[in-house]
Amino acid sequence: MSAFPAAAPIGFSTSASLERSRLARRLRTVLKGEVRFDAYTRGRYATDASIYQQMPIGVVTPADEEDLTAVIELAAELKVPLLSRGAGTSQCGQTVGESLVIDFSRNLNRLIALDPDARQVEVQPGMVLDHLNAQLKPHGLWFPVDVSTSAQATLGGMAGNNSCGSRSIAYGNMVHNVLAADAILSDGTREHFGPFGEHAARSLSSARTSALVSRLHEIGARERDEIERLWPKVMRRVGGYNLDVFHPQSERPYTPDGSVNLSHLLVGSEGTLAVFRRLHLKLSPLPGARVLGVVNFPDFHAAMASAQHLVGLGPVAVELVDRTMIDLARLNPAFRPVIDAALVRRDGGWPQAVLLVEFAGDDRAAITRKLHQLVELVSDRLGLPGAVVQLTDERAQKALWEVRKAGLNIMMSLRGDGKPVSFIEDCAVPLEHLAEYTDRLTEVFRRHGTRGTWYAHASVGTLHVRPILDMRAEGPTGGAARMRAIAEEAAELVRRFKGAFSGEHGDGLVRSEWVGWQYGPRITRAFEEIKDLFDPAGLLNPGKIIRSTKMDDRSLFRYRPGYAIAPVRTGLDWSAWNVHNDPATETMSAPGTGGDPAGGFGKAVEMCNNNGHCRKFDAGTMCPSFRVTADEQHLTRGRANTLRLALSGQLRDGALVSAEMTETMALCVSCKGCRRECPTGVDMARMKLETLHQLRQVKAPSAREQLIARLPRYAGAAGHVAPLLNAVARMPGSGWLREKLLGLSARRSLPRWEREPFTRQPDARKTHGAGREVVLWADTFNNHFEAENLRAARRVLEAAGLRVQVARPVADDAEPGRALCCGRTFLSAGLLDEARVELRRTLAALEPFVSRGIPVVGLEPSCLLTLRDEALVLGLGEVAEQVAASAQLFEEFLAKELAAGTLALPLQTQAGLRFKVHGHCHQKAFDALTPVHAVLARIPGAAVEAIESSCCGMAGAFGYEAEHFDLSMKMAELSLLPAVRAAADDVVIVADGTSCRHQIHDGTGREAQHVARVLDACLYHR
Ligand SMILES: Cc1cc2nc3c(=O)[nH]c(=O)nc-3n(C[C@H](O)[C@H](O)[C@H](O)COP(=O)(O)OP(=O)(O)OC[C@H]3O[C@@H](n4cnc5c(N)ncnc54)[C@H](O)[C@@H]3O)c2cc1C
Ligand code: SF4
Ligand code: SF4
Repeated sequence: MSAFPAAAPIGFSTSASLERSRLARRLRTVLKGEVRFDAYTRGRYATDASIYQQMPIGVVTPADEEDLTAVIELAAELKVPLLSRGAGTSQCGQTVGESLVIDFSRNLNRLIALDPDARQVEVQPGMVLDHLNAQLKPHGLWFPVDVSTSAQATLGGMAGNNSCGSRSIAYGNMVHNVLAADAILSDGTREHFGPFGEHAARSLSSARTSALVSRLHEIGARERDEIERLWPKVMRRVGGYNLDVFHPQSERPYTPDGSVNLSHLLVGSEGTLAVFRRLHLKLSPLPGARVLGVVNFPDFHAAMASAQHLVGLGPVAVELVDRTMIDLARLNPAFRPVIDAALVRRDGGWPQAVLLVEFAGDDRAAITRKLHQLVELVSDRLGLPGAVVQLTDERAQKALWEVRKAGLNIMMSLRGDGKPVSFIEDCAVPLEHLAEYTDRLTEVFRRHGTRGTWYAHASVGTLHVRPILDMRAEGPTGGAARMRAIAEEAAELVRRFKGAFSGEHGDGLVRSEWVGWQYGPRITRAFEEIKDLFDPAGLLNPGKIIRSTKMDDRSLFRYRPGYAIAPVRTGLDWSAWNVHNDPATETMSAPGTGGDPAGGFGKAVEMCNNNGHCRKFDAGTMCPSFRVTADEQHLTRGRANTLRLALSGQLRDGALVSAEMTETMALCVSCKGCRRECPTGVDMARMKLETLHQLRQVKAPSAREQLIARLPRYAGAAGHVAPLLNAVARMPGSGWLREKLLGLSARRSLPRWEREPFTRQPDARKTHGAGREVVLWADTFNNHFEAENLRAARRVLEAAGLRVQVARPVADDAEPGRALCCGRTFLSAGLLDEARVELRRTLAALEPFVSRGIPVVGLEPSCLLTLRDEALVLGLGEVAEQVAASAQLFEEFLAKELAAGTLALPLQTQAGLRFKVHGHCHQKAFDALTPVHAVLARIPGAAVEAIESSCCGMAGAFGYEAEHFDLSMKMAELSLLPAVRAAADDVVIVADGTSCRHQIHDGTGREAQHVARVLDACLYHR
């Protein structure tokens, strides 16, 4: 057992804390990489996508393999438990423990060697699956264990869990695709574990591993009969250790030549036997074509009963989407047409379930024949003529797969304390029993007052289902008690049908106690022997797979007994999260009725279930600060965890307004990417705003924050001396001075002040055009720095036949001469009261228009969308709701009206004109980017293309701040700036965000245009 004292629950207990400091000091002397032992960092590594939480001793991020060896050797010397971690997306608590966490994902993530001819690759374990596959694609290869978390999951974590993808029926699990592993044992011994023949033990690198391997062979031989008797006869079995390497059970042996590959014993060992230093993987050719048959079933049981027949056709995937998911998907306007196109209505009703049956291969004719056979089978054998929708277009197929993924996300976004809990989510049963198993388990849920939604891998009898439970509720009807009761009944079913209790996600904390149940005492003892041979001191991920704790040990829960959110007087209204849901009756209290508005803040923060989806680098925005730092601290999940720990009093007093919290939030650029892309809708930009507000209660803003926040207040006066200000900004040495005095980067250009802001120009006072009315609202940035954009917008609206009025302060406004503002700059500094002052002026000015049904149109996404977002949670009353309902971006308004045929724009043909569009993050967050494309596409002859970009990195003031300049440019260099540079000179770059245009200018020297300017330039009769 470890001599290291168990870490204190959370915080700063004495002796453990002292031990930690000593260990941290020793580590710092030997490591090049980061060593973090502060409570905030430990808290960020205390959870994974399971229901558990344990504070680790500390976190190390090895800089290289030498560092990794050094950590393990030091841990062996000091008897410190170790926990290897990739992306931390495990659902069973595998990466939760009171150990020293080794984060592989940041630095140990390289492709070491690729041999395309041999179809083999050698990687470091922290490499993310999608990153590997991106490098393999040009060679026509891929690593086919396509887990849903492919954008986050590391190959080390996948090997640790023996992960399985949607297409496992064709390609197998991790264990079928790992060729060898270079691993380090807990005493620092290094070994290459691969295939071993009869006398292979002799070729091992040390007496220690030779002896180890010989003993393993002996155990394997000794337990042969027991393996034969007890091993689940399903391909999806990932519980315990893969002792069956010595006596393969399935039709798909791990090693086709009959040799024993000891790396396969390490696969699925959840970091308890050895630490992977490198993995050698088998690659597969990328199929040249795919076709998809969507089989519609009038009842769920029939779908389940048919799976066994469908797999006979040799598909690469058979995936279930049940009626609940169909309904959820149909609620989403973007998904509705996609799912509808795959459904067959019978007698006016939607199907109760669909199975997505995919065939893949290089011979399109052959897979098309398979698709036809599927149609025949469904019609003749299953008696469902016309029930298959055939999708041969790959884009349509991709869209449908996206819907399947999104269904889970919608399910996970359930608000309230009852949440879908993963603990029997992946039991696997033989296909012939699938229908009966699902029927009976549904009945079990009903009896326990809950329900579950079924989806996923019908091909291999592993269906995902998560009953909804409230894990904070105590007593016999509480979440823990119901989890235990349901698990026991589910286990009985699994036993009856000779299945595997753990069929995909591993053991961890939730299922290790079931290993003994599944394999019996003799095999469990063999597992313990194996563990002791590899790791005699018990230092590697203790308590997982063997010698485990109980699944319902509430002291290990994230919401452990006594967990409570401390009351906070919030600046924003969080009542929308304060809901109560009742899984049994499927009812939910209306938002705002569950208690005080502030209580919802904690619940909003708790929406993060740690699934790790924000650790993404692919398309989309979330999360730019993580994309450039790869640091858990600067990730949506890291921030949400820090907030949750602070709000529930698990960090020190005052944690919410501490320097560490400020640092945690510092790189969040409030892009709102998470608001849209986080599956559970964590809106960190709003949480940052609340946190800043809390900070403001104890700390005044700095001079720089004041200068930026008060811009709308002095902008009018500044305009009067615009030429002077513009000249000073360009004087040599002014940048240096600016940086020294205010911390505004000398490397950043400053915007040019308009001599005459738009709202002061004489014709802004007049009403223009004829016809229907529209009110143009001038934001601070366009008004004072790019007034021509507003003039252009007005001309376009007039040309469309509208009567344009410019919003002005009401007559009794305290500062009638000062332009209106949304309060954005004040919000960014956490000055909510000041923001309210600005918003009240604007709402008062707009109210007379919106009360007459006149639409409000604005140009700057972050400003206009403030009216639809923050303005609604600042307690501004009904008028805020009315304005939000009318406020539209210029292009949103035009696109909608043009599509409805209520407006027409006289646009000249622009043959060959090409646009590349960069979307502002808030446009993307509010689904307001498509209208830009729609209106540009109205220009005859023009071609419009999207720039696949995340945040531009400028993010209001962020890019001006000297300490953030480099990060800001890094964010821009991820995709936006290279795409702009790659665009030919005659391509027009369109960007509606002031900050985005500025960043494009500073980074490439090119001038991007607001869409209003583009349309204006293309108008007839200008
Ligand atoms: C929404 C969602 C969907 C999911 N879908 C799937 C799915 O389709 N299929 C599936 O199989 N799983 C799925 N999972 C579970 C999880 O994503 C996978 O198991 C994934 O492969 C884990 O990768 P990771 O990098 O996050 O590993 P982690 O969670 O960080 O680690 C997993 C295990 O590997 C060990 N480990 C990590 N690195 C090393 C190393 N270098 N040496 C030794 N041990 C190591 C850890 O100690 C741990 O025990 C899903 C999870 C979520 C939240
Ligand atoms: S913030 Fe959202 S995406 Fe990130 S881990 Fe939490 S729930 Fe998942
Ligand atoms: S608002 Fe943007 S930067 Fe902040 S956490 Fe969300 S995605 Fe990341």
